[in-house]
Amino acid sequence: VIGVMASFEAFLPLPAALEHLDADREAGKRIFDIIDAEPEVATPENPLKPGADHTIGFHNVSFSYPGSRRKALDQVSFTLEHGRKTAIVGPSGAGKSTIAALLHRFYNPTEGTITLGGIDIMNLDPDDVRNHVGTVSQRTYLFARTIRENLLIGNPQADDEELKRALEEAGLETFSDKLDQWAGQHGMQLSGGERQRLSLARALLHDAPVLILDEATANLDTITEKAIMENMMAFGNRKTLVAITHRLYGMEAFDRILVLKNGHIAEQGSHSELMARGGLYAAMWNLQHRNQLDSGS
Ligand code: ATP
Repeated sequence: VIGVMASFEAFLPLPAALEHLDADREAGKRIFDIIDAEPEVATPENPLKPGADHTIGFHNVSFSYPGSRRKALDQVSFTLEHGRKTAIVGPSGAGKSTIAALLHRFYNPTEGTITLGGIDIMNLDPDDVRNHVGTVSQRTYLFARTIRENLLIGNPQADDEELKRALEEAGLETFSDKLDQWAGQHGMQLSGGERQRLSLARALLHDAPVLILDEATANLDTITEKAIMENMMAFGNRKTLVAITHRLYGMEAFDRILVLKNGHIAEQGSHSELMARGGLYAAMWNLQHRNQLDSGS
């Protein structure tokens, strides 16, 4: 899991970025070790080019991790419409992050097809897919370099104004005047939440039309999380947004919620539809909100 999650950061155009960055060898080597450790996903001989429609479709997708007989996903079908906002929720181990891993072409589905704008992603260059689908995960990778250089990995051409806007959207405006400070090892010691927000700012600079937030705000307090999610919602239909989370918070803002359980889609609908249904989602929501009341938060 760690290998896959760590390499989510690698959706960024790293080779190009490294030229600009002249990144320290050890860090670069570690990233490439991680990438190299991932199973080979072949590039088709004559890859098609993704079009302007970024609707994602999973069509009867099943998947088992290499060496495992258990199906992490079992006959999963859903559509993430272009420009809509979807939350993927469900208990731990339900298969939420596996959906993101398949979308990134870290693995091929064992059965079924995944489409981007109606094109089977097996017919696309994996790099094109990764450029269209940006992910911010729980695991972040920062180079022992300045904040600016870490952000420029997202878009080497970005100017300071753009860097500052991305920091602001990611809820890290306090870093706007710290662009030249070093992050990591010998520089600022960043908290988990700051690392996550820096990684989100980097993804926003990359500006992929599809953005997957995989527990990307998990280390943040609820006020900061709410502010960031409001910024993400303000993208309107400019971006297809997918938030993977097991914290059922602010769910009303999503167009649709997919509820996963044991590799299956147990339910899907809007927050109010799922609450009215009184099934797994409603039970999870009631439990979480009752706990919040109990703990007084
Ligand atoms: P969480 O909320 O805990 O992050 P999740 O819903 O995202 O869970 P996944 O990470 O997608 O769940 O995992 C689905 C299943 O696949 C689990 O049973 C998990 O143990 C298994 N799994 C995940 N990654 C790997 C891997 N790299 N190799 C083998 N099995 C894996």
